[in-house]
Amino acid sequence: MRKIVFFLVLLISMKAVAGAGAPEMKAKNGYVEPFRMFDNVYYVGDKWVSSYAVETSSGLIIIDTLDFPYSKWIPINLEKLGLNDKKVTHIFVTHGHSDHVGGAKFLQSLYGSKVIMSENALELTKEQSLKSKGKKKFLPPAVESFAEDSSNIVVGDTEFKFYITLGHTEGDLSIDFFVEDKGKRYRAFVVGGHGTNFQKPGLAKQFMASMARIKNLAVESPAVTVNLSNHPHKNNLFENREKNMKEVSSNPFISKEGFFRFIEQQSDLAKAKLIHNNSKK
Ligand SMILES: [Zn+2]
Repeated sequence: MRKIVFFLVLLISMKAVAGAGAPEMKAKNGYVEPFRMFDNVYYVGDKWVSSYAVETSSGLIIIDTLDFPYSKWIPINLEKLGLNDKKVTHIFVTHGHSDHVGGAKFLQSLYGSKVIMSENALELTKEQSLKSKGKKKFLPPAVESFAEDSSNIVVGDTEFKFYITLGHTEGDLSIDFFVEDKGKRYRAFVVGGHGTNFQKPGLAKQFMASMARIKNLAVESPAVTVNLSNHPHKNNLFENREKNMKEVSSNPFISKEGFFRFIEQQSDLAKAKLIHNNSKK
């Protein structure tokens, strides 16, 4: 009995710690109600930055962690979705900007998860952490092993493939895996970063090369049909959620055309900016 009481107190205090200091969950603060996108994928991000919870047979994976302290919404969202009894085994971080990595250490401390990111992303995280202040102050997570290009990890019943696709930063990590919709499998892709970095022209060229590489990878059979972008406005996430609520016959998050259009757009934008930059010289 004593053990049970202790466990309950521990659970309640863990919850209190998780929620303490979270920004008010209001739309004006960017709060978005979490929702299910696929049998095994949930949106737990905010209005500006995506965070996905992927359910595997051995627990949850969180992809990207929002800016701190908005990251504190993630455990609350998992609870709202009824996923709070699942173990968060891993946290995958697409790149080292604070809006993706800000909550990695917080979630790692809360759940004891392994954090996977590229080595360069951790370097950028350390720089961003030093610059973070006040309520937004965050620390870099502990990373045991870095994601390598063309590597993979199997968690329970789900395999994740990693690609280093530089250009937005020097450490962008793209993730390739299968989602399920009513038991049917669809290939999904998380592009590690959007938009080129024009302070470093070399990166802009790498970005275009990365988009070309992603396109080649994505057409391989079965082709990618799900764009799990790391910003919600890049994959019309909220418009598609509205459609999904209307019980349309097909899942609106599945669109092969949508994914490839997105890659083309990213590449075209980078090309246009490069030409513009060169013409200014
Ligand atoms: Zn970024």
